[in-house]
Amino acid sequence: MGALWHGFANMGTVDKNGAFVVARGEGAYIWDDAGTRYLDATAGLWFTNVGHGRTEIAAAVADQIGRVAAYSTFGDYAVDTTVALAERLAAIAPVEGSKIFFTSGGSDSVDTAVKLARRYWREVGSPAKEIVVGRQKAYHGMHVAGTALAGIPGNHDGYGELMPDVATIEWDSGKALLELIERVGAEKIAAFFCEPVIGAGGIYLPPDGYLAEVRQICRDHDILFVADEVITGFGRIGGSWFASTRFDLQPDMMTTAKGLTSGYAPLGAVIVGPRVSAPFWRPGSAEVFRHGYTYAGHPTACAVGLANLDLIERDGLLERVAGLEGVLAGAVRPLASSRLVSEVRAGTGLLAAVQLAPDAIEADPGLGARLVADIRRRGVITRLLRGGALQVSPPFVITEEEIAQLARSFAAALDAVLAEESAG
Ligand code: PLP
Repeated sequence: MGALWHGFANMGTVDKNGAFVVARGEGAYIWDDAGTRYLDATAGLWFTNVGHGRTEIAAAVADQIGRVAAYSTFGDYAVDTTVALAERLAAIAPVEGSKIFFTSGGSDSVDTAVKLARRYWREVGSPAKEIVVGRQKAYHGMHVAGTALAGIPGNHDGYGELMPDVATIEWDSGKALLELIERVGAEKIAAFFCEPVIGAGGIYLPPDGYLAEVRQICRDHDILFVADEVITGFGRIGGSWFASTRFDLQPDMMTTAKGLTSGYAPLGAVIVGPRVSAPFWRPGSAEVFRHGYTYAGHPTACAVGLANLDLIERDGLLERVAGLEGVLAGAVRPLASSRLVSEVRAGTGLLAAVQLAPDAIEADPGLGARLVADIRRRGVITRLLRGGALQVSPPFVITEEEIAQLARSFAAALDAVLAEESAG
């Protein structure tokens, strides 16, 4: 029996079958401990954007640890590397004059933004604005606030009431937001949290006009708009650093992590627009945001972040993702012709979902897990998202031929299930 307790896993099964142990990675590939190579179609958990095995990042880490590995960012302390990354992020933020509150990951970023939204309204004299609004299908990490805010079935169960003053609305309807405002009153709503493209909940692209509509509703009713860009940030949607830029959202706050370091070190950041930061930064203000994490803005992680942003710029990866957007969509869309697939969602950057047909899942609840395992046997790593979609979110360095290979492996696995069915 092993000792490692995996997240989101049935440990009885993992322990029985043994863990899949990754020994090495390079570019868009990983190798298991038996030396078998796999195309990493998920980029780990949506994060290895610059690809595996980047020696430039290893060098930046060695340099930083040799100088000073870590120090505090509480009070007036900071290491120069942390300051440099904050300046760099402020310079690429979609809203001018943004401030950077570092965290250790996406869940930290979401909880920080929830607390900051509520504190902001107290600072500006509207303490009744406490409700935070999330959407069905949304994922906002696994801390208490993020779990409460998200809308993935099953993730809230068994923990009691996680957080008061949370509301969940339909994921794709501006009208649902308006109805909520009418029901509870805008004077009670602090913030609306929104993944520009829903990620872990199944990769759902925003319906046409949806993001502009909810953004405007939030403006009209004085509700903070928080873009959760933990997946979409740092180039995943192509062409620009953030989905908020692509969709012109001008968010009041943005939560980020993953692609900030391409996962080479744990780091997150809340990018806070001037409206929200103002009461805390005003000269002469006595306000303290009594919040912070020991490893927030960890200098070694920030050195990784700087090297990662350098690579994205040097290698033109934002443009590369924009160029590959149509290639990926074109490669995976034909999978929708399989009887086992009800829909393929693609068309914003390097993100796609192959949705298994609900009737096929109902008839065979183990279908998704078997497909993931079979696709892995065929040399490609994918993952089953809640709701029965296969995740595609490869590293930005993936080639057109590798994208084609990925689609061929999916198609072969789907065909094999159908062949088995007709043989059986
Ligand atoms: N928010 C979104 C949109 C995410 O996709 C995730 C993780 O997948 C998180 C928050 C939580 O990030 P982390 O797992 O780094 O805590």
